Amino acid sequence: MSASVPDYDVGIIGGGPAGSSMAAYLAKAGVNCALFEREIMPREHVGESLVPSSTRVLSELDFIPKMEEAKFPRKYGAAWTAATGSRAYDHNFDGLAAEAGADIRFEERNQPGVTQNYTYHVDRGKFDLLLLQHANQLGAKVYEGIAVSGVDMDADPNFVNIKYKMGRKEMSSSCRIVVDASGRRTLLGNQMKWRIQDPVFDQYAIHTWFAGYNRLALAYKPDMNNYIFIHFLPMTNTWVWQIPITEELTSIGVVTQKKNFSPTREQREEFFWQAVGSRPELHDALKKAERVRPFKEEGDYSYAMKQITGDRCVLIGDAARFVDPIFSTGVSIALTCSRFAHPNIIKALETGNFKREAFDEYAQTLRRGTRNWYNFISVYYRLNILFTAFIMDPRYRIDVIKLLQGDVYDEAEPEVLTRMRNIVMQVEKNPNHVWHKLLGDLTANAFVEAAA
Ligand SMILES: Cc1cc2nc3c(=O)[nH]c(=O)nc-3n(C[C@H](O)[C@H](O)[C@H](O)COP(=O)(O)OP(=O)(O)OC[C@H]3O[C@@H](n4cnc5c(N)ncnc54)[C@H](O)[C@@H]3O)c2cc1C
Repeated sequence: MSASVPDYDVGIIGGGPAGSSMAAYLAKAGVNCALFEREIMPREHVGESLVPSSTRVLSELDFIPKMEEAKFPRKYGAAWTAATGSRAYDHNFDGLAAEAGADIRFEERNQPGVTQNYTYHVDRGKFDLLLLQHANQLGAKVYEGIAVSGVDMDADPNFVNIKYKMGRKEMSSSCRIVVDASGRRTLLGNQMKWRIQDPVFDQYAIHTWFAGYNRLALAYKPDMNNYIFIHFLPMTNTWVWQIPITEELTSIGVVTQKKNFSPTREQREEFFWQAVGSRPELHDALKKAERVRPFKEEGDYSYAMKQITGDRCVLIGDAARFVDPIFSTGVSIALTCSRFAHPNIIKALETGNFKREAFDEYAQTLRRGTRNWYNFISVYYRLNILFTAFIMDPRYRIDVIKLLQGDVYDEAEPEVLTRMRNIVMQVEKNPNHVWHKLLGDLTANAFVEAAA
């Protein structure tokens, strides 16, 4: 390395979907980039169901043939089952149906830039490995088993230093721009003290895989075998995901609030069975299946960052923001970050302007999208029935499907979201409204804040 020529133009920390897609975009454009991943892949990871906006990125990266070859289950739609039964009911805004389910198929809305009427569910061990290998084949250097310990942002006026250990030896690699894709470990966010814990969403999850689970146990249409299911439970802010992994395997997770999460592991496993026990058909179907993985837990995962770009640095994926996973948004956001950020990075390399402003376009687009997700999620938790009512109402169905497809970045606030917000406010103000008693408590503050 000479004084002014760094080892790489771009150094990427983390080889999940965010880091690998960034490496793939940059390598495809001929950028000299290197990715450092702490694990030896494949490694297990939560977040197994994609939304269709992911397909746009996977197509741009010429990765769809590999998805098809890997035979990931095709995801044609999504269903939400009611806490007191599996069937969808008729809805109207008088709130006659207090308990409701709903379902959608992605093909109901044509999605610009997406030619498939389905997306995928993925075994993240396999998916993340394939995407990382793809980036490598496109020309990105990939180092596995390298845990980055920090970034020296002031190493030199012309570059930053990514620090790590090889064996016992302290090493570093220099680059013009560093991209933090370290996921919920938020390496740079912590180092720069940019991370802010979400004061409202404090959800915990416990999850595992089952073999031989009957995925139609709670379905009310025969073509729902490969849908994602969200099963509502009769406990506040608690729900179950059901995600196909292969023909044989299904991922099941219970999400609940921190206060319900018991202190010991044993009690938490008991809680899993108790929670699914509140839906007897679900419980019976799971008891007939075989659990093939230990339970895994994820905790208190929602946070934001004071800034997601800085001089010579860009944060992407979970390293930039985490919003509650109720709508399976994480991988799509991670991939979309790379889609929006890589043109700014390439331009910065061309112009030599590495100041924070060079990445403004990306930062603004991502903030717009994640704000929309956050507001949508807040509405969902605040007044569950409204979400299903909007899906079942032909006036709003397509607009809600647009959000569920992951197309949330092009408008400051989609009209349908404003409409939902206004209805929530009316219900909040009117104690006599039939929905008033159904208001959830989880997002009250966040919702007021978002509305301001
Ligand atoms: C309960 C729960 C359910 C979820 N369900 C879904 C879902 O259904 N669908 C969905 O799309 N998303 C879901 N998500 C979100 C999803 O898991 C993430 O949004 C997604 O994995 C983000 O990708 P990423 O590349 O940003 O981070 P990650 O996938 O976490 O990848 C980060 C990588 O960085 C590496 N790394 C970390 N620190 C370092 C370091 N110091 N040096 C080198 N490497 C490092 C890690 O080993 C990891 O491989 C869920 C999340 C939770 C908590």
